Amino acid sequence: LSDITEEIDRENKIITDLLSLVKMDKKAADMNITNMNINELLENILKRLRPIADQRSISLILDSFRPVNADVDEVKFTLAISNLVENGIKYNVDEGWVRVTLDADHKYFYVKVADSGIGIPEDSVDHIFERFFRVDKARSREVGGTGLGLSITKNVIQMHHGVIDVESTPGEGTTFSMRIPLNYVPRQEERL
Ligand code: ATP
Ligand code: MG
Repeated sequence: LSDITEEIDRENKIITDLLSLVKMDKKAADMNITNMNINELLENILKRLRPIADQRSISLILDSFRPVNADVDEVKFTLAISNLVENGIKYNVDEGWVRVTLDADHKYFYVKVADSGIGIPEDSVDHIFERFFRVDKARSREVGGTGLGLSITKNVIQMHHGVIDVESTPGEGTTFSMRIPLNYVPRQEERL
């Protein structure tokens, strides 16, 4: 029975993830933009994930260089960053760390999610944003997941007209870096 329950949970998560991807294929008409304090938003994400990190004595650190207010879709942006921090925890070593940094200039804000984890092999780095792509099928199965998290994250960042990049060293860790405009201006093809 517990196998069945686990499988239902897993399928439920796939369906939820797929739904959020499908919904995001629609245009920015349903971007729900508000100007928000990003420091607080990140703080809340870390607070929510801390119990999971604590189970493996992984520390979650937030480094804010300045107060940042920016135009974001709170639900989508929270999902994007949560996926990265969840990965940072999942693909880490016991007693490791995940460090989120926030900075801004007059035009953009910058979020980095860095971890002290297992890293990503060089030949996989170019594929990790693809739907259903997972590095080590056997090991990945143990930690659970569907391979949709990062494609959702990339989608969301692009919907905010931002860019995301990854750098990783196997055995040392991984850093995701994002640059997102402070002000959201809908593009021509996104209006309506
Ligand atoms: P889920 O859909 O639950 O997020 P997932 O975590 O496997 O499942 P993604 O978040 O898209 O899917 O990540 C894809 C793959 O990239 C992972 O399976 C893992 O192999 C690798 N990966 C992602 N983030 C990291 C990281 N921080 N460190 C090492 N490997 C990572
Ligand atoms: Mg993931």
